[in-house]
Amino acid sequence: MFNLSPYLTGLACDDCGQLWSPGPALLTCPSCGGLLDAKYDLDVIRQVLDLDSILKRKADVWRWKEFLPVHDEADMVRIGSGGSPLIRCRRLAHWAGVKELWVKYEGMQPTASLKDRSFAVAVSTAKRMGVRQAITYSSGNAAISLAAHAAHAGLTCLILVNAWADPAKLGVLNQFSWPIVKIDWTDFTEVESLLAKAVEELGVYSFVNFQNPWRHEAYQTYAFENWIDLDRQAPDHEIHPIGTGGGIFGSWKGWNALRSVGYTSRLPHLHGTQPAVASAVATAFDAGLREATPGGDPRNTIAEAIANNIPLGKGKRPLKVAYESGGSIQAISEEAIMEALYKLGEEGICAEPAGSTTVAAARQMVQHGIIKSSEVVVCTVTASGYKQPYVATARPMPTIHPTIDELKKVLQRNG
Ligand SMILES: [Zn+2]
Repeated sequence: MFNLSPYLTGLACDDCGQLWSPGPALLTCPSCGGLLDAKYDLDVIRQVLDLDSILKRKADVWRWKEFLPVHDEADMVRIGSGGSPLIRCRRLAHWAGVKELWVKYEGMQPTASLKDRSFAVAVSTAKRMGVRQAITYSSGNAAISLAAHAAHAGLTCLILVNAWADPAKLGVLNQFSWPIVKIDWTDFTEVESLLAKAVEELGVYSFVNFQNPWRHEAYQTYAFENWIDLDRQAPDHEIHPIGTGGGIFGSWKGWNALRSVGYTSRLPHLHGTQPAVASAVATAFDAGLREATPGGDPRNTIAEAIANNIPLGKGKRPLKVAYESGGSIQAISEEAIMEALYKLGEEGICAEPAGSTTVAAARQMVQHGIIKSSEVVVCTVTASGYKQPYVATARPMPTIHPTIDELKKVLQRNG
């Protein structure tokens, strides 16, 4: 199979269960259109795995190559993706009302968001299969990450972004010299349809999460890295923002892989977060449904990296994880998103609003009795605050003449 991982057994369809051989033309299930998920022979991996040698490897996403589709070092696109810090936050834990709160901080990735994990693996896999030209749609973060990884790998790429994407992100995106097209849409299914036609008529390879079967693979490394950093223990709860749900879906796959190879018997409860003004998946979860219906207005939230009226795949994957893991999907108000962003700032963590939803969710779930005060929680802060540098400009910032009297007056006013 294109000399991908020797442990890879194929791509299985979520809906009809058929197993397919990977290839550059295979995105979703050719039989029923369902989403595909890579399967590995975990029994064989269990026999060959050696934790001591894994821990001696460079601590990037490829440290865990046995669980990833590319195995040959020469194929691995490496610009520093993966291996982000897990930061213990005592003040945040106190504020949220839990024993331990840890932030998995993805602002440290090469393009400052979680997407770098995902594109390191997906671009490497595509390159190995002979893909030459990439396309993706993105709110900004994924586009920047694909632009960087495709450049390093030597693929060409075409990038579609939201018409209302943050100008700061568009400016960064332009540094990579790829063609960029802004899309003005009202229903996300319009974007899905355009992408499908581009793949069919232009012969490009789509890197949209989930529609591309490899993008979520690297998010397994959340489980592996958190397990190592928590002294080979699972936390009680892990919280991920949901754009399409790649992070929560991949991490759950990783935790189950860790269980299959005998490294852990306990698994965390996994929770997803959405902005309350665009929370189709949370609404479906509250109603006990297996798939979401479109709802909300994604233009009305500051958490733009996870703003959509319905995620690709109708939210079936994040919903499945929430049910299977005994977790939940939380809708977070705009006020709570900003409050959590400032609380992260008080811990020295520079967060994008989408990422701060997880910390807001921890507090919300303690208040609702979903998380107990004695428990250990990991919140994934998915991108750096540099991604939306204007969100906190409304806070007052007085200008003075450079005299000590004026400075004292300001300090007195601020108490
Ligand atoms: Zn199928």
